[in-house]
Amino acid sequence: MTVLRALAVLVLLQGAGCVAFSSSLPAKPAFRLLRHDIQLTIDPASHRMKGLDRVTILAGGRELREIAVTLNKALVVAWVSRRGALLPFQPGPLPPATALDAGRAHRIVVQLDPPAIAGETFALDFDYAGEINDPPKAPRHLRFVTPSETSGHIGPEGVYIGPETSWYPDVPNSLASYRVRATTPPGWETVGQGALLAREVMPQGTRTTWEAGACGVRSPEVSAEGRFDCPSEGMTLAAGPFVIEAQKSGPVEIATYFHPTEAALADEYLKAAAEYLETYSALLGPYPFPRFSIVENFFASGLGMPSYTLLGAGAIRRHYTQPYALGHEIVHSWIGNHVFNDGGGNWVEGLTTYLANYYWHELKGDSRKAREERRMMLWNYAVYVPPDRDYPVAQFTRKSDQRDNAIGYSKAAMVFHMLRREIGDERFFAAIRMLVSEYGGKRAGWKDLEALFGRVAGRDLRSFFARWIEQQGAAEATAGADPDVHLFRRIPRGDLPAMLNLFVTDAKRLVVMPAGGRQDVAPYMELAERVSKQESVAVQTADRSVPSEWGKASVLLLGGPAAGAAFEWARRGLPPGVELRPDGFRIGGREYGGADKAVLVSFRNPDDPAHVVSLFYGLSPDAAQPVARLLFFYGWNSWLVFENGKVVARGDEE
Ligand SMILES: [Zn+2]
Repeated sequence: MTVLRALAVLVLLQGAGCVAFSSSLPAKPAFRLLRHDIQLTIDPASHRMKGLDRVTILAGGRELREIAVTLNKALVVAWVSRRGALLPFQPGPLPPATALDAGRAHRIVVQLDPPAIAGETFALDFDYAGEINDPPKAPRHLRFVTPSETSGHIGPEGVYIGPETSWYPDVPNSLASYRVRATTPPGWETVGQGALLAREVMPQGTRTTWEAGACGVRSPEVSAEGRFDCPSEGMTLAAGPFVIEAQKSGPVEIATYFHPTEAALADEYLKAAAEYLETYSALLGPYPFPRFSIVENFFASGLGMPSYTLLGAGAIRRHYTQPYALGHEIVHSWIGNHVFNDGGGNWVEGLTTYLANYYWHELKGDSRKAREERRMMLWNYAVYVPPDRDYPVAQFTRKSDQRDNAIGYSKAAMVFHMLRREIGDERFFAAIRMLVSEYGGKRAGWKDLEALFGRVAGRDLRSFFARWIEQQGAAEATAGADPDVHLFRRIPRGDLPAMLNLFVTDAKRLVVMPAGGRQDVAPYMELAERVSKQESVAVQTADRSVPSEWGKASVLLLGGPAAGAAFEWARRGLPPGVELRPDGFRIGGREYGGADKAVLVSFRNPDDPAHVVSLFYGLSPDAAQPVARLLFFYGWNSWLVFENGKVVARGDEE
């Protein structure tokens, strides 16, 4: 494994990365929103925005006497009008079973007098203003990196407003086109979806106009079905004091919007984005948008929006250009942000993971890395999905924990791999190109994919989809039956190398730390307290006697030789050739010493190999401290050696 692998673990398998949503669809709506034309003024200093949205609406099959739209409660509507005439309106609570937070959003019911006739297209103007002030909260989990949580925020540190903010009048599951003309203070830039139609720098501020309905180089027009081409699921805007760098890649403009402190990294991102766009355009068909931007966020995130990605400063500084990172967000431009998930499930993340995180390595001819990725998907499932907590891929909608990640991303990606082997490369990729061209701007579900792949393959794929999508579980084959890891099978926990993640996912586990009171155990005490608080794990202190329960659980033993009797108990299970001493250690055939070194080694519990012991210590408190903070990001290896907090060697149990 490499350092990149560590980042992959951190970002992909530990659960960050972008998230595609999926929700249920209502039957036959009374009306549809076709288009928003929004004039927006943002004042970060006061957290306020002011909007004027001209909403184009198509009445359904019946006369329409009123319409209800959702809007953030903090945004006060001044007036609603049609063709210049004011209309009565009143706020009210959201109907039950709405995906939106009823504490944050409410309904505005507008009386249409005279009513709209069946099939009529008309426009309403909404004038509204208020404060959007929900500062991002720090992630809650110890080992699961969630983006900081906010429903949307306007502030001096930055602006992020999207559909979940309800910053414009909307209805659930709308697919509309959007034009936004946003004005920000001088020195600030706004990024939206689609095409940048205009950018005016004026003394009083910067005004940019974004057209999200634009797909490719085409301009939006009403199709025969009465909707605009290439609609979006919503409009997300980001704004900040950005430095813009841009370059052309064929017909596509690629841009970075970074804060001045990260601006020097722009070239690296522009170059990587150009390579992904070129590669995936050849594989999936023309890139569906006129522009792709990489935008620095003011909170930790890895979000893929149509035509841009929003990355936290930390991710940008960590060179987040890998296939599982920037590559994944760019593939979402076709899969997820152009072809949308329908209400019934989420195939988007599995296919995006397959094409970006995995298939990139095949495309580049790195079969060793490709095999390692496949193996990692099986490990992910083996570790995070115990048989009694499994569920079918068809039930995955969005990721909220590692189990969802292992099923909705890893297993689903392996299922696409098996589908490809089942029908052959040529048909598989022809079907994916057809998916993009036929379903661009529309929703598709697992059933649509089954029909489409079946059509291209010229055969019925019912049993394949029933087995792998609708049923839970994996093949029960042995490792010998599939040496190259092409089959989605369950690896028994006992066959996995010992690793910290086996401790993390063991129902019986405890943390043991050296007796307290001494300066040199401080890093372990902090870590133990954090683990016990956030993971609800019992903490015990190493004492003269070792309770028998340690032999029936997975144990995280902190402090190494300083843990006295506990260490003596554990060391019986150390793999041959591993020696741990207070002033040095021997592992992976090498001797390590010096006050800057630390080691994390996992091995089978000497009293019961169904559990593991993970042992962590530094040769000084300064060596242990930086590793202790991030210990759970190192869950996939049997041993790691750290120098000043950086991994310098790692390996897996044979
Ligand atoms: Zn994704």
